[in-house]
Amino acid sequence: MNKTDSDKKMDPEDSIWFYTELIDFYNINGLKSVFVTFDVDWAPEYTLRRTVNWLKENEIIATFFATHSSPILKSLKDTNIFELSIHPDFSKGADPILKIQDLLLEYPNALGSRNHRNLSGRNYSDALRQKGVLYDVSKILWSQPYCQCVPMYNGMIESAYSWEDGTHLELGIELDLKHVPVHKPGLLILAFHPVLFDLNCRSYEELKLFTSRYKPLTSAPEKEFNLAINHGFGMGAFSRQLLLYLKAKGVKFQVLKEVMKPAFEIECRRPRFPLKARGDHEYRV
Ligand SMILES: [Zn+2]
Repeated sequence: MNKTDSDKKMDPEDSIWFYTELIDFYNINGLKSVFVTFDVDWAPEYTLRRTVNWLKENEIIATFFATHSSPILKSLKDTNIFELSIHPDFSKGADPILKIQDLLLEYPNALGSRNHRNLSGRNYSDALRQKGVLYDVSKILWSQPYCQCVPMYNGMIESAYSWEDGTHLELGIELDLKHVPVHKPGLLILAFHPVLFDLNCRSYEELKLFTSRYKPLTSAPEKEFNLAINHGFGMGAFSRQLLLYLKAKGVKFQVLKEVMKPAFEIECRRPRFPLKARGDHEYRV
């Protein structure tokens, strides 16, 4: 008797998914799992406090990619409710290693990085690897399905993310949930920014107009910030609507390390990339 396709055991080599062990995260049979992330981008403390309080009140789990030393972020500790990873700015001066090192001193449990302005390339991933960072989510594949964990050339794990608040505004896309790719199969990683979440801007220009006034942005006085908040329907209100929609759907919120760490551990056990190819440094697991 001939075997039908469904009788055959799935061979990982035939799958579109690199780590078939992780398919429960990949929304193959509908929307089930989401990873909410925030790129801190020098948000003042009062903004971070308001963002974190909103997430706590609504029981939404998130990963923060930190740009600087923040008492509010540090008070969150590093748990399965809030993960603290790093958001190094490689766009200006200084050795990438030093930038990563400074952030890791502030956030010693950080396992991942999303590089500011999506900068990527070997100069940065070699430095991240050297400092023991094990995953990188710096690439954006706008609105694309089938994002997943894949191994990088250096043994780190990477995945693209498919939506970001600032890009949505910058592209001038209508603030309607139908334009957020939450019903496509694949790893669903959404990227937000606390300043945009709080300022609730209606356009990218409005955001830039405010942020360009303060260097660094952490120095923006709370009074001036509060006066600039849009009280109509802007990206902050839309972001809250999106997160509450996902919550109402019963979607599971998780921190990124919950999928990235197992991917890294599977990769370490694979004979395809011998351990010696990983160098002598210690990974942060
Ligand atoms: Zn950034």
